[in-house]
Amino acid sequence: MPRTVFATALCALLIGPAALAAAVDAERAAEPAPGDWPAHGRSYAEQRHSPLDAVNRDTVERLGLAWSFELPTRRGQEATPIVVDGVLYVTGSWSMVFALDAATGALKWQYDPGVPRRTGSKACCDAVNRGVAVWQGQVFVGTLDGRLVALDAADGSVNWSQQTVPTDQAYTITGAPRVVKDRVIIGNGGGEYGVRGYVSAYDVATGDLAWRFHTVPGNPDAGFESDAMARAANTWSGEWWRLGGGGTVWDSMAYDPELDLLYVGVGNGSPWQREMRSPGGGDNLFLSSIVALRPDTGAYVWHYQTTPADTWDYTATQHMILADLEIEGRTRKVIMQAPKNGFFYVLDRETGAFISAEPFVNVTWASHVDPETGRPVEAEPVYVDGQPVPTAPSPLGAHNWMPMAWNPDAGLVYIPAMDAPFTHASAAADPDLDDPLWRTGTDFAAAATPLFIAPAVEEALAETLVSAHLLAWDPVAQKAAWRVQHAHPWNGGVLSTAGGLVFQGDATGHFSAYDANSGRLMWQRPANTGVVAAPMTYAIDGRQFVAVLAGWGGSMALNGGRLNDTVKGGANGRLLVYALDEAGEPPPGVVMAEMPQPPRNTALDDDIRAGFGHYARSCSVCHGMNVAGGGVIPDLRYLSREKHAIFDRIVYDGVLTEAGMPGFSHRLTPEQVEQIRAYVIYEANREWRRRDDSGWWRAVKNTASRATAWALLQLQ
Ligand code: CA
Repeated sequence: MPRTVFATALCALLIGPAALAAAVDAERAAEPAPGDWPAHGRSYAEQRHSPLDAVNRDTVERLGLAWSFELPTRRGQEATPIVVDGVLYVTGSWSMVFALDAATGALKWQYDPGVPRRTGSKACCDAVNRGVAVWQGQVFVGTLDGRLVALDAADGSVNWSQQTVPTDQAYTITGAPRVVKDRVIIGNGGGEYGVRGYVSAYDVATGDLAWRFHTVPGNPDAGFESDAMARAANTWSGEWWRLGGGGTVWDSMAYDPELDLLYVGVGNGSPWQREMRSPGGGDNLFLSSIVALRPDTGAYVWHYQTTPADTWDYTATQHMILADLEIEGRTRKVIMQAPKNGFFYVLDRETGAFISAEPFVNVTWASHVDPETGRPVEAEPVYVDGQPVPTAPSPLGAHNWMPMAWNPDAGLVYIPAMDAPFTHASAAADPDLDDPLWRTGTDFAAAATPLFIAPAVEEALAETLVSAHLLAWDPVAQKAAWRVQHAHPWNGGVLSTAGGLVFQGDATGHFSAYDANSGRLMWQRPANTGVVAAPMTYAIDGRQFVAVLAGWGGSMALNGGRLNDTVKGGANGRLLVYALDEAGEPPPGVVMAEMPQPPRNTALDDDIRAGFGHYARSCSVCHGMNVAGGGVIPDLRYLSREKHAIFDRIVYDGVLTEAGMPGFSHRLTPEQVEQIRAYVIYEANREWRRRDDSGWWRAVKNTASRATAWALLQLQ
């Protein structure tokens, strides 16, 4: 070895790694080394497919738990870890960051941004975070209260911190930042809270704002920020800006270095009901769209709107994958997305031109997407005889934020899919639109299971509500290749590997591997809590590891109500890391609490009925439809006598605001609060009775796996 090379190598050995941990650059992010996972979706193309194949169809039965790391909170866990240079970086709920030795799980450092817990009431969908970005020795995290923080990758100390949102509005950050051309790109959420969406870029070194792209126009009198906004304003009517408009960029992004295009997924309209938002009609750009921007300037290049004039909470913030596909004899550079609205889209990512779209679940809101115009053809209005009827997919989406994956060898995209209807009714007379927090303009009482119906009818209703599956989709033929039916909705994101495997965790607390070509179950281990995050894989010294963050939570865990009866969470999150020839045990789950006998139900039916409506409109989004919890936020059926005694002080006066439970004196009267309590007691007594006469088991019997999952939780 020549002396200078030797000296350089020695120098790198001595100071290199210490000087610059997580030395991700454009090259590494675009073309990761096989054992690395340097970016959120593994690379800029966000395919979530790893070339590692030591764990494969033949060896997967030897896969076992190598190590686990227990997180300090029991809220939802949605992050995908990043692994570079032997270190694993992951976030937990409340935007905490952890750096671990990727081979052993030893904690190197942790960072808690100290998010005030009252911020929880601004977050529709749990105190979650989907991960960090790393770049040239820094780790970037967006915090629930809207900060973008740059940490030193070596020790977790703060290099800089920027407040990216106005703190007097209900903006939050749950998505992972991306780094493109020395700029950290970060969006935000709040589409259910009347905010105006945008995405921002900050200089990696200084934290200075480089550019901001608004996704919906503001008040025309204040002038438009860009030509794109001036044009978009032509597609709105009325005084939409007073209601925010929505269009938040709360999750997905991708980048094509060759085309130099940054793609961002844009969320739903705020409020949901389009007549309230834009009474004169219009497409309401750029709601529910994929928008391509120049990463240097944030300048608009093209857009494709999946749901013009969205009125169903059909975000297009779902995961986007860049790939090159052979379509009708030529190679097309495409971008693929399976947004909430139930159609799988293949677009030309250079121009945004429509290539194809077909429904991948049951879809009732549109008959098809017109191939000539690329526009959906809406079905008849969702009212029959003046009454709203269920529309599919639901606001939870045919596919939510859980990442999908693309296997170029199999030619398949694997989608965590859901089939569910939802009854959209306008809440025109509701106080919703004046609420500084919840502002959908939608009457959730119409979507709740009706009161006073026979148990058998209720059970039958529950059976039809939601069905979920892992779906393998051929994006060229636009049709399903196979499906794995799940016992419960709201399952984990997906990883694809060159070992011919598809990894996915599920709501019932299992982590599984399926054959990439057939969907056959190849391997399964208990996670002892529901899994919603996506797995990833990496190699250290040639040894392949498969990692998944387990921890039940997210929007459905909050609002799903009785649909969550079989997946009570409650356990702390845990990172589970597997390797061949290991046999570790994950941390245990939780034993379900004994239900205290509720106060006697002495209320009049009329008060219970009124309480049902107020509860559905003001409480159900967090505490669950029909007063049934999801293991994340207190299940009010289990409320202690002490809490019942101060119910009015909690719900009306807001004495628990700092803990995340705001007061509702701005939208409820003391009498209405008491009606809500009457309804809670009514539901608690029903539950108590069900358990008492073992009718409980009828309510949750369903499939064998549901019963098994429940028994599993009971035993631990
Ligand atoms: Ca939404």
